[in-house]
Amino acid sequence: MIQNLVRPNINRLTPYSSARSEFKGKAEVFLDANESPYETGYNRYPDPLQWKLKQAISTLKGIAPEHIFLGNGSDEAIDLLLRIFCEPGADHIIILPPTYGMYRVSADISNVAVKEIPLRPGSFQPDVEAVLAEADAHSKLLFICSPNNPTGNSIRPGLIRELTKGFPGIVVVDEAYIDFSAQESAIRLLPEYSNLVVLQTFSKAWGMAGIRLGMAFASEEIIGYFNKVKPPYNINQLTQEAALKALDKQEAQEAQVKQLLGQRTLLQQYLGGLPFAERIYPSDANFLLVKVEDPTGIYNYLVDRGIIVRDRSRVTLCEGCLRITVGTPEENERLFRALVEFE
Ligand code: PMP
Repeated sequence: MIQNLVRPNINRLTPYSSARSEFKGKAEVFLDANESPYETGYNRYPDPLQWKLKQAISTLKGIAPEHIFLGNGSDEAIDLLLRIFCEPGADHIIILPPTYGMYRVSADISNVAVKEIPLRPGSFQPDVEAVLAEADAHSKLLFICSPNNPTGNSIRPGLIRELTKGFPGIVVVDEAYIDFSAQESAIRLLPEYSNLVVLQTFSKAWGMAGIRLGMAFASEEIIGYFNKVKPPYNINQLTQEAALKALDKQEAQEAQVKQLLGQRTLLQQYLGGLPFAERIYPSDANFLLVKVEDPTGIYNYLVDRGIIVRDRSRVTLCEGCLRITVGTPEENERLFRALVEFE
């Protein structure tokens, strides 16, 4: 029963409904929302439920629009999940470090405790027994990042299933990097598990981090809770239009992903040949986790040459590691030329 997991105050809310949607096609004069009457292309509030965009995403993903929530980045979906399910001071979330930092940031902002069950060293796969042993009635959310940031690996589908089956709260599979992976999306598990939420984003493979558009896929019931708590106009009109345009040119996105994957392989080979590179972790994402002899030295050396990577060497289980995003062929070439000269 999902309803029993939701905070009581959320259950009492009703979703925002706009007169614009209610009277669509039935009225011509809208004097209800204190908008400017002067046509600018943007003088009206945008569609609060983004139906046109959801229909296009529905076609792409093979899932009905009623199972989709759109957020101001997937970061907004993460924040709303905390607010829907976690009672501050009483409930907690479970995360599997090393992982994406925003789960903890959102929990900290909401005054919700965080329990950490580290991924297994080396394989970076979850310890299912340890997670389920830690879970109780106050474990409202479990965040599984697959492919995981910053390690780059996907979480094995069998383990995602076991966790979703055994976890008493909501399991959130964050698939921000899924389009760079050969692994199938957990979206296909939605009909089986009512406690599953899958997150994706336009920020990575779609190349649209600037428009801030994230997606959550879940049961109609869970999407209903998102709609109760979201700000009425969380996706602006420019974003809705830009996303629709991009979805219309899907081949361009696919070609870019293909090129990026080629560059990822090249970069893996390049970096593997460097004497100070101790380990290049396999990646299902658009970045590589690289263990080096002197991470801080290399980081500063690259900064001096105008190249910024991410120093993850102080993150538990990522000791000695840099996280390097795959760039254009020219950018990767420049990185490589700089690294070859490092002593
Ligand atoms: N999840 C993961 C795993 C990420 O790495 C990121 C961004 N770095 C996000 C979510 C946030 O994505 P968005 O831009 O959609 O808020």
